[in-house]
Amino acid sequence: MSATPKDHAPPEFEIVSAWRVACDGGEGALGHPRVWLSVDRDEGYVECGYCDKLFVHESFAAEVLPKFGLEAP
Ligand SMILES: [Zn+2]
Repeated sequence: MSATPKDHAPPEFEIVSAWRVACDGGEGALGHPRVWLSVDRDEGYVECGYCDKLFVHESFAAEVLPKFGLEAP
């Protein structure tokens, strides 16, 4: 039971244009029941509680991504 220390950056992220997004983790090991997530209108992003995927609203990408050490596509 070794807890893998989480990297500062989330494993995956997606730029979205909607304030409400669905995540099912995709296929394979990260898959999980589909959940709906609301992007925080102040923070500009939301993190999936199942797979840690980060959803960043497109209008916040420029300020949110650097916070997580990510580069805008
Ligand atoms: Zn997810």
